[in-house]
Amino acid sequence: MAEFDVIIIGGGPGGYVCAIRCAQLGLKTAVVEGRETLGGTCLNVGCIPSKALLNATHHLHEAHENFEKMGLMGAKPTVDWARMLGYKDDVIGQNTKGIEFLFKKNKVTWLKGWGSIPAPGQVKVGDEVHSAKNIVIATGSESSPLNGVTIDEKTVVTSTGALTLEKVPGKLVVIGAGVIGLEMGSVYARLGAEVTVVEYLDAITPGMDAEVAKSFQRILQKQGLKFILGAAVQGVDVSKKGAKVRYKLRKDDSDATLDADTVLVATGRRPYTAGLGLEALGVEMLPRGQVKTDAHFSTNIKGLYAIGDAITGPMLAHKAEDEGMALAEILAGKAGHVNYGVIPGVIYTTPEVASVGKTEEQLKEEGRAYKVGKFSFMGNGRAKAVFQGEGFVKLLADKATDRILGAHIIGPAAGDLIHEICVAMEFGASAQDLALTCHAHPTYSEAVREAALACGDGAIHA
Ligand code: FAD
Repeated sequence: MAEFDVIIIGGGPGGYVCAIRCAQLGLKTAVVEGRETLGGTCLNVGCIPSKALLNATHHLHEAHENFEKMGLMGAKPTVDWARMLGYKDDVIGQNTKGIEFLFKKNKVTWLKGWGSIPAPGQVKVGDEVHSAKNIVIATGSESSPLNGVTIDEKTVVTSTGALTLEKVPGKLVVIGAGVIGLEMGSVYARLGAEVTVVEYLDAITPGMDAEVAKSFQRILQKQGLKFILGAAVQGVDVSKKGAKVRYKLRKDDSDATLDADTVLVATGRRPYTAGLGLEALGVEMLPRGQVKTDAHFSTNIKGLYAIGDAITGPMLAHKAEDEGMALAEILAGKAGHVNYGVIPGVIYTTPEVASVGKTEEQLKEEGRAYKVGKFSFMGNGRAKAVFQGEGFVKLLADKATDRILGAHIIGPAAGDLIHEICVAMEFGASAQDLALTCHAHPTYSEAVREAALACGDGAIHA
């Protein structure tokens, strides 16, 4: 008889959520995790530490830029970098220990060490081989390398190194204008670094609604970030004095360089499945290194499943969690399901940027008739009170049926506001459904309602 009903390899948001739900549904469950702490990339070197630093530096920025405007006088705070990193580590510790507590509470076994799959139904951890009816690969992802660039995690860093720099750099060059690059770029810009973001494409945040991306870039520029777009990085040379980033401008093939104290390579992440023994097992993989799965997260090997960053789809913690929960339900004989059409994406800068569903560009490409309801936070009293009137809510609805197809928000608490629209979309709501829902005043959420009103007879405060 198998020792476990389920063994999950990887204790990140996909793996730990899957494990807790499996245990709650009565399955004997173990998680293999090689790190010293649970929580994966997200809790240890991703979502949580980056948000801690964004929070600390947001307050610093507020103190320097906005306190006096509100009559809050006095000495401006200075930065004790070691203490700020200590705060960040404390937040990580509280969260990772929280998962350990949840494992104990739900009777999930943590098999400490790096796991491999020597044969179907078997997981090897150290010298021990455990058997399981079902095995789940939830091994996550790692930073993608960039040709010509050697990472030393001191001068040339990935996001992991960027969370533990010895000191705040004078000049930071970020390669890649995606979510991670812009979040960490914002952190260091607020700490006083001169931040230049070099991006291969002609716009920041690829895939984002173009109008939002443009507005976002303009706001970040006002905050001091510089952008070099359409630039292909050729290499980074490191010397005792720092680093030199060599790039080629795509429009005219001209060569240029940038000096930096620190270079953050944030050009994306790739699935991590090294050491599992998948090739020997004959597990089918996709061309970009993801484990190939069917609609029920099953690989081509019976009893072997995969979720999270290791499979296809957006590399987001909540996508991994949802897959973990859905797979647990499936393994317990229930109907697990993830609605990939309603997965929000959030950038936690100030202002925040959030989106769900289709972008305008996608709707155009699909040839779908749609209408746009837009509302600026300038017309929202609460946003103006916190000096964040610059952004807007943009709601996209089907022209004929008024059904909500997507939403894109740049503004205060956008990452929370987006969920009202996610719920509406899950219920197949129309823009009018949102517009007819009473929203408390004064809240940022009123801007969402106004955008919904703008899909119909018009917003009130526009
Ligand atoms: P992971 O979290 O990567 O966990 C996989 C775990 O498996 C790791 O702990 C690893 O040690 C372990 N493992 C791997 N191989 C083995 C093995 N053979 N044996 C044992 N253990 C193994 N997403 C968001 O949604 N919001 C954010 O704000 C956000 N911010 C981010 C900021 C940064 C800087 C980074 C890098 C990422 C961020 N992400 C964010 C992405 C998010 O962290 C990932 O999408 C998420 O962690 C994926 O979860 P996962 O469970 O698939 O894998």
